[in-house]
Amino acid sequence: MRKEITVTNADVIANRIDSRPRPEPNEVTAPYFAACARGELLIQRCPDCGHAQHYPRALCTSCGAAPDWERSSGQGTVYTFTVIRQTGVAPFREEVPYVVAMIELAEGPRLMGNVTGVDPEAVRIGMPVEVYMVQVDDEVGVPYWRAR
Ligand SMILES: [Zn+2]
Repeated sequence: MRKEITVTNADVIANRIDSRPRPEPNEVTAPYFAACARGELLIQRCPDCGHAQHYPRALCTSCGAAPDWERSSGQGTVYTFTVIRQTGVAPFREEVPYVVAMIELAEGPRLMGNVTGVDPEAVRIGMPVEVYMVQVDDEVGVPYWRAR
């Protein structure tokens, strides 16, 4: 039995202009990125075996059935992370030090993203975080994470 998880829309920072590479959605990932632009974090759940997965794929990685989309709570914890302290690559070199973390969602799947708004030295494994979205345009949003 799955525990009850509250799902609400994430905060969306609209139309941020920056020089980060834009994710290029494909047929499988387009619904995910479009939902992010609306403030909704989606994962996939298999209607046949119940397996939850991320990143988006055409097939369930457990049984091969076609997965359904499901709204995630956007609540998770830091599963592991690293602090990027040095890079020569624009635009990221302007942002060091920054945190790249693997977030474990309350629903189970893990996804990678930046933890922001907190001193990188204060980030810890197990730290509770919540998603917020940066809308690149109407078709693409990118999830970011902050302490909760
Ligand atoms: Zn399955």
